[in-house]
Amino acid sequence: MVVADVAADGQVQEIARIPTPLHSYQEFSNALLQYSPTDGSAIAISVAGVIHPETGIIKSANIPCISGKALEPELNQALGRHVTVLNDANAFVLAEARHGQAQNQSVVLGIILGTGLGGGIVVDNKILSGFNGSAGEWGHGPACTTRSNEPLPPLQCDCGQPCCLESYGGSVGLLHIYQHLGGQAQTTTELVGQWHAQQPIASKAIDIWLDLVGGALANIINFLDPAIVVVGGGLSNAKGLVDALDAEVGRRRLTTHAAPLLHPAKHGPEQGLIGAAVHANNQS
Ligand SMILES: [Zn+2]
Repeated sequence: MVVADVAADGQVQEIARIPTPLHSYQEFSNALLQYSPTDGSAIAISVAGVIHPETGIIKSANIPCISGKALEPELNQALGRHVTVLNDANAFVLAEARHGQAQNQSVVLGIILGTGLGGGIVVDNKILSGFNGSAGEWGHGPACTTRSNEPLPPLQCDCGQPCCLESYGGSVGLLHIYQHLGGQAQTTTELVGQWHAQQPIASKAIDIWLDLVGGALANIINFLDPAIVVVGGGLSNAKGLVDALDAEVGRRRLTTHAAPLLHPAKHGPEQGLIGAAVHANNQS
């Protein structure tokens, strides 16, 4: 858990970094109480999980003690003041829309190429949550290749569906594809290095990954027609990968533009803090 003061211009001043209480809700809320500002500043937190827009009930895989709780109303009561809670992928896109790569754009799609896939949509500087709070979750649907006859390794997604894009599109999935083809590297950094060296298995794996992810992304770009797609997560730092994905998407979407549509995010790990602060200010 990172606690920080975020200024109106997006500058982050870190205050504390503590282990996130995972199994005791009391400890979780006590930690927030301990670091709550006393000057009346807005409090906002960014967490992994889907948050229902009406009830505030959160489904969180990595912080079990808050999963199933109506976190925002419960924290309001526990801390005796308004606390804003938002999903970390939404925070990422909001941070980029207000203070990052996507400033002054009306429709912004953010995608996270992390261990798995995530994403969010910001329209006119506001998060588009959707009816259930899951808008922007683009990874849960069938993964389809169009130019490879190579069967994908069969993987079961945590959502319960077989062969979701989520299972192949992140760094874990990319390694699965590569190792399924016989590749020996153990990290995506090594794999990407082999790709740049034109090693055949790495080249094949990246081509399958571009086909899978680029096709799905072209589909949602056609539907949403964003002005910019901001790319975050560990794979966005892999040399040349976002450019290759942009080229793939450019060949497959309906409309074309000379300038790149996909851009690596400006902000790193601080994006959740910045997005949470922007969201709190939007609501005040
Ligand atoms: Zn899934």
